[in-house]
This record gives sequence, structure tokens and C-alpha cells, in this order.
Amino acid sequence: MTFSYHIASTQDDALRRIADAGVLPVAGGTDLVPCTEEGILAPTLVVDIRRIPALRDISATAGGLRIGAAATIAELAAHDAIRARFPVLAEACGSVGTPALRNSGSLGGNLVQRHHCWYFRRGVGCFKRGGTQCAAVEGEHQYHGIVADGTCRAVHPSDPAVALLALDARVEIVRADGRVRHVDIAALYDGASRDPLKEAQLEPGELIVAVHLPAIGAAGAQHWEKVMQRGAWDFALVSVAACRRTDGSVRMAMGGLGLAPWRVPDSIEEDVASGGLDEDSIDALVERAFYDMEPLSGNDYKRVMGQGVLKRAIQAISAD
Ligand SMILES: Cc1cc2nc3c(=O)[nH]c(=O)nc-3n(C[C@H](O)[C@H](O)[C@H](O)COP(=O)(O)OP(=O)(O)OC[C@H]3O[C@@H](n4cnc5c(N)ncnc54)[C@H](O)[C@@H]3O)c2cc1C
Repeated sequence: MTFSYHIASTQDDALRRIADAGVLPVAGGTDLVPCTEEGILAPTLVVDIRRIPALRDISATAGGLRIGAAATIAELAAHDAIRARFPVLAEACGSVGTPALRNSGSLGGNLVQRHHCWYFRRGVGCFKRGGTQCAAVEGEHQYHGIVADGTCRAVHPSDPAVALLALDARVEIVRADGRVRHVDIAALYDGASRDPLKEAQLEPGELIVAVHLPAIGAAGAQHWEKVMQRGAWDFALVSVAACRRTDGSVRMAMGGLGLAPWRVPDSIEEDVASGGLDEDSIDALVERAFYDMEPLSGNDYKRVMGQGVLKRAIQAISAD
């Protein structure tokens, strides 16, 4: 697979070029390049967006933060304001892959990366390759999802997306005609089950320019945990991002369970926010949270592990 390469100097330059069919934005290339080798993407031209200053900028907004989409995962993990006020995101970023990946990979690319299901990546004719079944259901599926929606059982690979869901982040998306839209991070992935051919709900020619962290998610109690099979350089078997905000409300999201980062049901969040939970009531809550999960024959451990991880998160954000 060969393609041409252009370094964009401005956002307008990038947007003008990616408006054409077959042209894709690229930042670190850590997912785009493997996807071209695996026959998942076939760009004729890639447009490097890393030299556009506005896309690298991380700046304060009214009590929140605006993070340029080409900022690297390492920059987010080390950023003073993110570490101080949105630590769950800094920790999630710090747990991504390896130092080399964190230094190359961008936030935007991380959110748009394709699933790492081995059937999909190796060209098996599954839902994600236009087929009519999920090969994981009858095959090897120990790393696949336990959230069942009747289609693909791949799990979303992004750690930052899980933290962003717990922070109620919004994504700023621009297209060449100047149209700007802001969507909740949940909406970015809403539809992954309806259309397994794509995970992030972006139209051709659209560029994520920034992610906004609202003030409501700053500070309070925040907790991140990621369980991996290896000690490092691995995707999450299960992860959790949990926040008790300064107004007392609670947001909890989990990774490694489904096609998209999974938001814990709001009735559970509300019970956690009410407080006064002893160990038995937390056990009952986490069991309720996982009630609708449908593990496959070889990944029920994710249900058990997920309940344990969620229990620790509830205890952590409930501690005085
Ligand atoms: C071995 C390995 C281990 C990994 N482990 C983890 C892990 O533990 N946790 C985790 O979260 N991730 C993990 N990853 C994924 C890695 O973090 C992503 O590959 C990386 O973040 C993607 O960023 P990038 O800038 O390199 O994206 P690119 O490869 O440049 O782009 C990826 C896709 O996004 C599109 N794109 C890029 N920027 C934008 C934008 N601004 N707007 C719209 N579309 C855009 C591109 O066109 C392409 O389709 C791992 C990857 C590997 C290879």
C-alpha cells in the first residue's frame, strides 16, 4: 500500500485536503499505518496535522480545558493542569501502551483508532469487514466484550476515551465548509453497534480539532484503574474511570467491556452519590451494574473482574 504525504501548516489547509475522497488526517500514524497494512484503510494521501499550532495547544477555558486533538498522549499525561484538576485523564493517558506510543500517538488519533480484534485486523469476514457474523462468538474471545448488542464483540481500545466519558468531555469537530459541531464523547461512539464498519461517528472530511473538559468535571475525587494481562504495553482487560464531582454527583465509565466505552447505569451512579454505602451494599450495586452483561463462554472472568474493579472505584471515590 502506498500513499502520498503532506504536512499541513494550517487547519484550513488540512481541512481543504481531507475534504477529498481518499485523503485522511494523520498524527502519530501508530494506528493509521498498521490499518493500511491490514487492508482496513486505503488512503491515497495522508495529511499530517501535527505542525498546526492550534491543534497542539492545551488551554484553559471557563473553569475547564480545551485540548488540541494533535496533542500527544504523553503531553496530556504530564500536563500540570490535567494532573491537578483532571487526574483521571492524566492517569488513563499514562497507562496507554508504551512511552514510544504515548510520545507519538495523539489524542484525536487515539479516539479514532480502530478496534484491535484479531479477526477484524486479520481480514476475517466479520461484521467489521462487511460480513454477517462475529467470528469471536464461536472462536477465541477471551479479550472480547461482554456487553451484548447482537453485533460485533470487539472492545474499544482507547483508555483516554473511558476517562473522557467519566469527565463528560465534548468533542469539537470541523469540516472543510467551516461547519463546526460539538458532540458528547458518548455520542462520538453512539452508533458503533448500528454500524460496525465504523466506531467513531465521523463523516468523511471531518477533523476532530479539540476535546473540551467542562469545569463541572474538575477536581473532586477521581480514580483510574486499568487491569492488563501484562504489566505494561497492553490494552485493558477491564478499566474504570470514576469521579465524584465537587457538587456530589458521580460519573463512572468502564473500558474493555464493549464496542464503545461503557457508562455505568445512572441509577448506580446516583446510589453511589447518595453515600452511606457499606461493603454489602457496594457488592449489591456492582452486581446490579453488571446484570445485563452477556459474557461468552470464555470471558466470564471479565464480569467478575469488572465487578471487582468497579467496587474498588466506588470505595475510592466514596472515601472521605
Ligand atoms: C502495541 C500497541 C499498544 C497500544 N496500547 C494502547 C493502550 O494501552 N491504550 C490505548 O488507549 N491505546 C493503545 N494503543 C493505541 C495507540 O494509543 C493509538 O494507536 C494512538 O493513540 C493513535 O494516535 P495516532 O496519533 O498515532 O493516530 P494515527 O495513527 O495518526 O490516526 C489514527 C486514525 O485516526 C484518524 N485521525 C487522526 N487524527 C485525527 C483527528 N484529529 N480527527 C479525525 N481523525 C483523526 C486517522 O485518519 C486514522 O484513521 C496501542 C497501539 C499499539 C500499536
